[in-house]
Parts: sequence; C-alpha cells; structure tokens
Amino acid sequence: MRREASEALFEKSKSLFPGGVNSPVRAFRAVGGSPLFIEKGEGAEITDADGNTFLDFCCSYGPLILGHAPEEVKKAVQEACERGTTFGAPTRLENDLAELIISNHRFLEKIRFVNSGTEGTMSAIRLARGYTGRDKIIKFEGCYHGHADGLLVEAGSGLATLGTSSSAGVPENYAKETIVLPLHDEDAVRKAVEKYKGEIACIIIEPIPANNGLLLQGKDYLSFLREVCDQEGILLFFDEVISGFRVGFEGAAGYYDVKPDLLAFGKIIGGGLPVGAYGASAKIMGHIAPDGPVYQAGTLSGNPVAMAAGIAQIKACLKDGFYEELAKKTTYFVDAINHYSSSKGYAFKVFSVGSIFWLSFSDKAIVNRSTDISPEGMDLFKTLHHELLDQGIYLGPSGYEVGFISRAHTEDQLNKAIEAFKNALDKTFTA
Ligand SMILES: *Cc1c(COP(=O)(O)O)cnc(C)c1O
Repeated sequence: MRREASEALFEKSKSLFPGGVNSPVRAFRAVGGSPLFIEKGEGAEITDADGNTFLDFCCSYGPLILGHAPEEVKKAVQEACERGTTFGAPTRLENDLAELIISNHRFLEKIRFVNSGTEGTMSAIRLARGYTGRDKIIKFEGCYHGHADGLLVEAGSGLATLGTSSSAGVPENYAKETIVLPLHDEDAVRKAVEKYKGEIACIIIEPIPANNGLLLQGKDYLSFLREVCDQEGILLFFDEVISGFRVGFEGAAGYYDVKPDLLAFGKIIGGGLPVGAYGASAKIMGHIAPDGPVYQAGTLSGNPVAMAAGIAQIKACLKDGFYEELAKKTTYFVDAINHYSSSKGYAFKVFSVGSIFWLSFSDKAIVNRSTDISPEGMDLFKTLHHELLDQGIYLGPSGYEVGFISRAHTEDQLNKAIEAFKNALDKTFTA
C-alpha cells in the first residue's frame, strides 16, 4: 500500500500542530505508524491522500450515522450556506432542530445548543451545580466526558492510551471536586454519597460507556443510580454524546428506560458539523441565562449551517425502522466474526449494542469495568489494526475505541469486512 502522500502531509503537519494533529487519538501513537490523511468520504468508504480506499468503521468516532456525505445532509448544508453562515441572532432552524428532538424524546423539555460535546457536558455540570447549590460531582473510571478541567480526572480512550490517568494543567482544587468511582460497583456509590452527604450536585455517567472499550452497565445498574439520586437530591446526568440518537432516538435513556435529570449530546446531533447540546426539564433549564443565574453563551451556538445538517440527519433517524435496520446489520456482522473467533478458540470477542461495536481481547463473557480490560490485548490490537488496514478496513487507531456501523454500510461491504476480519484474526493469533 502506498503511503508517501500521507507521510509527507504528516511531516508537514508535525511542524504545525502538537503531534501533527488537532486531536490526540488521530496521531496513531497507540498502534504505531503514521496517520492516514483523508481526502474524501462517500457512503461507507474513505479515500486517503495516496488514493487508497477503505471501508470505514470509525465514522469520525460516531457522528456519521448515515455514512459520509449523505445526499440529504449535503443538500441541506449547501442550501443553508446560500443564505449566509452566521448571524448572531436566532434563526428558524434552531427551532426546527430543537422541536424535532424534544417532541420525540420523553426526557427533554428544553435544550440549549453549543458547539461540541465537551461544551455540552461542561455547561450541564455548571447547571447541576447552580441548580443544587452543591460543588462536588461523581464520575466513573473509564468514562470520558470531554476535556473540561473537572472532567479530566481518570478519563477515557485518549488518556488511557497515552498511559496517564489525568492531565497536566488541571488545578488540584478542581480535580478535588470530582469523585471518581469504579463502574458497576453499587457499594462504591453508596459509600461516596454517604461520605459526601449533601455535597454532591450530580452523578455523570456515559449510560453506555464507549470511550474505554464498551463497558455495558445494563438497566439494573442505571436504575440503581436513579434511586440513589432520588434519595439524596442528586441530579442524574447521562452523557449521551455517543449513545444519543445512536442506540435509538432516545439514546440509552430510552433504550434502558431510565430517566436522567440532565442530558448532553454531540456527534450525531450535528450531522457531521460541530454541534453539541444539553437539556433537561423546563424547571432545571430555567436556571440558565437569561432566564436564570447560570451563565453560558456562544457566538456560533445554533449555527444555521450546522443546524441544517443536524435537521437533515435527525429526520433520517426518525424514519420507521431506521434503528432496527442498523441493529440487524450490526448483529449480522458481529455474530459472524464471533462465530469464527470462537470456532478457532481465539481469546477475542466483539461486544455490541445497537450499531456500536468493540473488539475485546479477552475470554471474559462480561466486561463492564475498566479493570476488566487486559492491557496485553492492546498489543494484539496493534497487529490486528495494521492487518485490517492492509485489507482495506479502517478502524479508529486505538484498541480502546469502539467502531460504528452506518446506514451506508451495505451487506456486500459487511461480508467483505467479515472475510477481512477472519484473515486478520488468523494472522494476529498465529504470528
Ligand atoms: C466525544 C465525547 C465527548 C466530547 O465531545 P467533543 O465533541 O469531542 O468535545 C463527551 N462525552 C462523550 C461520551 C463522548 O463520546
């Protein structure tokens, strides 16, 4: 495979950006080698600067639930651009996207648009503190909630991959307000809320933790958190930046039928453009400026081009049978690989929910805590990742990342990918 053009671009980008990239996991440090520079995407495929084409299971880490450059999103973006790209004044498009979401989501009465998932979670944490008058928050090991200071305490894939548990530059006093607990451990939660009684504003969780492997928690555990929060006057905060509009229109909250008090979104909501959001009941959202005392603002928030992309994508997600079809394709793909792997006795299993999947190098039937993930498996992932690239399959360049299946992935493409996985697994486990 030719790599000259990507390598030359990377040489240049290293002189321009730290590590040559604008987001760390893109640097390929976890798998070695240099990143592919992408020229274009169409449907489920991407083409790099050297003209190599890959079937894409990274899907920009989640936003592209319709695949690359879907017709309806392209058209909506082009039309919106014709009318001007930003006004700093409200537009009809913000109403339209908000109404589409709120009228189809049981747990939202009001939302606020921002520009990224990070901004969504960061702002909602401020709201939780402003609403409850409490400072501390609980988060879980292996859950990633964006890069706001107080949330960079034991975060997900990027950090786990680089082997640090926290970031430099975060004042100890901020980190002190974040209590980090292991996932799926009721006792740890009970002890923490007892110890810090009346001090905890919210419990933030990825209800489907998907930034450090796929650590499925299940309905019972989320219902337990709901109960604890009700007893202690704590807000339950579901960070649905990945799971929102992904495992169903109502995300994990709808999938497990557990009601959160606060929600954050990103990725899919913007149709491939930079959009985030947070939302809650009208009562809680009433604390946000200008209605209330919690300040939060944004020059480009609710940007009309991004809203148009979001509307087009969200409408496609609302079509009858959309999520059933995605889940069916994913199950077909995952079952075929798992069947092959177990017939060969490989310590390898693909976990999945909805159209999210994760490659686990473990014999364990259940993986729901970050300590369940064997670091040794990441060496095997390195080999597998490069074998798959050679066969035209693109995955996120870290074994802690999940993969995604989009509307654009065809049965024919999935069959080819299954064969590629079989070959790559054989090479990985017999090397
Ligand atoms: C991606 C992600 C974020 C951060 O979103 P950005 O748009 O990258 O800032 C926050 N929470 C979760 C669960 C995510 O997956």
